[in-house]
Amino acid sequence: MYVNNKKKACEAVGFISEEYALPAETTQEELLALVDTLNTRENINGILVQLPLPGHLDDKAVIAAINPQKDVDAFHAVNVGKIMLGDYEFLPCTPAGVMEMLRSYQIPVEGKECVVIGRSNIVGKPMGMLLLHENGTVTICHSRTKNLAEVCRRADILVAAVGIPKFVKADMVKEGAVVIDVGMDRDENGKLCGDVDFEAVKDKCSFITPVPGGVGPMTIAMLMQNTLRACKLQNGIND
Ligand code: NAP
Repeated sequence: MYVNNKKKACEAVGFISEEYALPAETTQEELLALVDTLNTRENINGILVQLPLPGHLDDKAVIAAINPQKDVDAFHAVNVGKIMLGDYEFLPCTPAGVMEMLRSYQIPVEGKECVVIGRSNIVGKPMGMLLLHENGTVTICHSRTKNLAEVCRRADILVAAVGIPKFVKADMVKEGAVVIDVGMDRDENGKLCGDVDFEAVKDKCSFITPVPGGVGPMTIAMLMQNTLRACKLQNGIND
């Protein structure tokens, strides 16, 4: 679903996308060789490796092999480091999409209590960092956090990136909070749902993102933005 949506978005904005659907038994060397070829091709501006990879492949080594200027997912250590320093070309697409959404709905972050549930490298950690850059007071929670509901109830802005269907219940949400649901999960009937129990929570908050149709499309929009930026960077075009 992710890959198809990305391909459709590329077509919609006029980018050419190439998909390499390799067999599961592809070796590390073969995959690295493909990344290397794409790194050197001048007509390729962005490369992303769709994770997770099969267990015998070393995803860290594969991400490290991508030219940081073509790393449109912003997972390469060079780009992660730049984000940490607050001086970056690319932001990881999902947290960037959340920030774009907050900006476009004119929801201020400065001085707000921001709680992120989840500390993955692709969502939770960079999400916390971006909220911090916007002067939020940030708490990042994870599976060892004590009194999670109590911590979440402090949040003016609550971001759920847990990967557990309908994990956030009404007793974890402050009245009037902004609730951002990053989750892409399946409920007991196999239906797509988020990490937030939308029906239970929606009347308590001032804003809430639906799943599907909330953070997911924003992620793809940010991927397009990163790819355009990569193309400009590689061709010396200023924004
Ligand atoms: P992940 O790598 O599995 O990380 C999940 C995080 O949740 C971990 O930090 C984990 O804590 C924490 N967690 C798990 N159980 C918890 C609990 N009971 N209480 C508190 N924290 C708990 O997942 P991810 O890659 O960040 O993805 C999270 C969700 O976002 C998934 O549903 C994924 O499909 C979705 N997603 C959506 C998009 C999009 O475009 N919309 C993009 C990426 C991901 P520990 O670190 O302690 O284990």
